[in-house]
Amino acid sequence: MPYCLTLLPGDGIGPEVTGAALTVLKATGVKIVWDKALAGQRAIERYADPLPPETIKLLKKNKVALKGPIGTPIAKGFGSVNVLMRKKLNLYANLRPIRSLRGIRTKYQNIDLIVVRENTESLYSGIEHEVAPGVVESIKVITEKASLRIAEFSFQYAKKEKRKKVTAIHKANIMKLSDGLFLSCAQRVAKRFPKIIYNEMIVDNACMQLVTRPQQFDILLLENLYGDIVSDLCAGLVGGLGVVPGANIGEDAAIFEAVHGSAPDIAGKGIANPIAMILTAAMMLKYLGETKRAQAIEQAVNNITGDREVLTPDLGGSSSTRQVANAVSRQVKKYL
Ligand code: ATP
Repeated sequence: MPYCLTLLPGDGIGPEVTGAALTVLKATGVKIVWDKALAGQRAIERYADPLPPETIKLLKKNKVALKGPIGTPIAKGFGSVNVLMRKKLNLYANLRPIRSLRGIRTKYQNIDLIVVRENTESLYSGIEHEVAPGVVESIKVITEKASLRIAEFSFQYAKKEKRKKVTAIHKANIMKLSDGLFLSCAQRVAKRFPKIIYNEMIVDNACMQLVTRPQQFDILLLENLYGDIVSDLCAGLVGGLGVVPGANIGEDAAIFEAVHGSAPDIAGKGIANPIAMILTAAMMLKYLGETKRAQAIEQAVNNITGDREVLTPDLGGSSSTRQVANAVSRQVKKYL
């Protein structure tokens, strides 16, 4: 039986990089029937709604989706469709594996860490108002329920993947109540996993430690905003936004999307790096239980980056999105 999954091509470079991921998925031989759905700019043009009910219905029906990035207007316009989608489907855990790839020249080697970001609350609650002219408030919401749930996810993931350490990142010295609650929940969960080392770090120090000694980290557990910022920092450690995959996971559904955004500056030029999206597709296969095919993609990507012959400009090459997708697809077949 083929898998029936939802495809959201997204905005900007989304259609290019999801197209590349589909080429590679096809090369693995996995049978997938795709239901294509619209969100973001294209959905506004067609339905006057950035997240139409049809799209939510499809996402709920198929439970697993591959999604390209959807842009969010800055300081005006509609709110983030990405955030709304995560809230509507209760995709509370954002998982971003940060791994060094062969051949990618960065200041660091042998990075292998996982960012686990709480996806539903904190300053992303979207509660902002003007108290008086020239004075605005933005409310940070932290709940015991969501904090326990994301801590539990981190430790369960650590156990399943045989990881050694979870570091909770916070600013509880300043936000004593909100980040204090987040920390106390992490501590409660950590007690039930005595074999996994648990420690805590203040977010500013964590950023400094990440750029000086990133190898000390294993799993990073963060609330929403710190998770967003630290994810991009971590992407920089291993070669940039073009190479880091991601997943949003809930109890009943999962949406797989790369860390990067819609990159309007390079959209339509055929030069977007598809590796992040290709590795995201591998994460999706792993989630579906297709471990061998997922590993084949990961090995193929490492061969391509290691050879350095077919790379997009962000990694110092001169190849196109399509050429990278085709080269990875050829390699994938060797590992199946
Ligand atoms: P959005 O509003 O959707 O978040 P953005 O441009 O603010 O878009 P990103 O899309 O994450 O944020 O891009 C940040 C920078 O990284 C841009 O210069 C972009 O070109 C670059 N970038 C992001 N993704 C890729 C990619 N896959 N390949 C090459 N460059 C990328």
